Amino acid sequence: MKHFPIYLAVEGRRIVLSGGGDAALSKLRLLLKTEAHLTVLATDPAPEIVDWAKAGRLRLVRRAMAPGDALCAALFYSANDDAREDARTAALARADGALVNMVDNLEGSQFITPAIVDRDPVTVAIGTEGAAPVLARAIKADLEERLSPALGTLARIGKTFRKAADALPFGRPRRAFWSDYYGGYGDRSLAQGGEGAVRPALDRLLETHLGAQDEPGRVSFVGAGPGDPELLTLQARKALHEADVVIYDRLVTPEILELARREATLIDAGKEGFGPSTPQEAIDAMIVEHAAGGAHVVRLKSGDPTVFGRLDEEIEAVEAAGIAWTIVPGITAASAAVAGIGQSLTRRGRNAAIRILTGHDMKGFADHDWAALARPGEVAAIYMGKRAARFIQGRLMMHGASPETPITVIENASRPDERILATTLATLEPDLSRAQLSGPAVMVLGLAPRAASRVLDRDQISAAIVAQERPVLEATP
Ligand code: SAH
Repeated sequence: MKHFPIYLAVEGRRIVLSGGGDAALSKLRLLLKTEAHLTVLATDPAPEIVDWAKAGRLRLVRRAMAPGDALCAALFYSANDDAREDARTAALARADGALVNMVDNLEGSQFITPAIVDRDPVTVAIGTEGAAPVLARAIKADLEERLSPALGTLARIGKTFRKAADALPFGRPRRAFWSDYYGGYGDRSLAQGGEGAVRPALDRLLETHLGAQDEPGRVSFVGAGPGDPELLTLQARKALHEADVVIYDRLVTPEILELARREATLIDAGKEGFGPSTPQEAIDAMIVEHAAGGAHVVRLKSGDPTVFGRLDEEIEAVEAAGIAWTIVPGITAASAAVAGIGQSLTRRGRNAAIRILTGHDMKGFADHDWAALARPGEVAAIYMGKRAARFIQGRLMMHGASPETPITVIENASRPDERILATTLATLEPDLSRAQLSGPAVMVLGLAPRAASRVLDRDQISAAIVAQERPVLEATP
């Protein structure tokens, strides 16, 4: 860092500028935002400068700079649109003891003026040490768009409320108050009632936070559904909206995490079926730690939290710590998967029961389990089954299942990249390996896509991937 960014106190101090043309104008527009006393030295000042002088916003001296003009000045700008005059005036100002900036001359400048995003008293200064002015402009434009125009007003009002907010304990409670204010509450009260409405709104917000302080932490085990945010329950949305901390699994989609309160802390518990994962005990401890500290923790699990979610271990840990908890159910992957193929999980006369299995445990299956699964008409949804597919195929054949038994594998159910592989027990492998599914997938034993046999011919079906895109399923007959 060759230039150290600081904010200089200029209220009531002198800033002197030499020059009256374009370079001077662009610097003056910035400098006029300050509370410094501005002096401009120019033989031929632009009309704007004359007007500013008339309005008392700066002092205009109509002559070239002379020794002593920059005495006691905090800053001096040489902005003459003339390199020689810039060099001359800069030397004079240096002799007077001022810090010097030469417009468009990085080497000759003792300080540089950053690009500024102005929400006074909140200002963002952007500097690239002259390396990339275009980048500085792009960053500025980006921030201009992102920071509410009312931010300055809110900050000014907020400043007057700091003492009152000290009624909240230092740390999380006070932070939560201010992040609510700057995270939308302030903007809304300003939009609804103008500046006069903000202070009373702050009083109310403080009341709420003071009241909430003694509320103990709690945990909601929330089902995030299969991935489509529209398949969240209203309760899940509400919980996300209110959470202080969201601890989520790998399969929860970014679109759903977007719905969490902006101030919430998001923690990736990164549990993966086979890959690296956070140990369960560490997740249990994390949930308890945050809730014990008073937070409303949302433990967000894909699908339904009660299905292959290790929910009970987490509940036991939370209960052992004496923390209150609730479960918000979600749409499990099997439901989304059969919806995607236009089928029912149960059907009168075909199957009165449905099994939900995990491919993880199947190695421990007893013979009678396999025999039951191999019966005609049986429907089972197998989660986490991709790696066990060949084993499942072998066992079912061995126990007499028909090779023609339909098997449909639904990958990324409910998501834009949903894919459906319609196959049979006989062809499950190699079809599945060939399809190279990389997303989460449910294998549905005993169900074919309802309309696919009509939409796609048999060859395509056994050729594995029915759909790179989703097959066009016809309406229910
Ligand atoms: N609690 C979750 C299941 C977690 S186990 C639920 O109720 O859905 C993880 C397994 O769920 C994955 O290996 C996959 O088999 C299945 N799964 C989760 N989301 C899925 C999706 N969108 N499409 C297909 N299968 C999914």
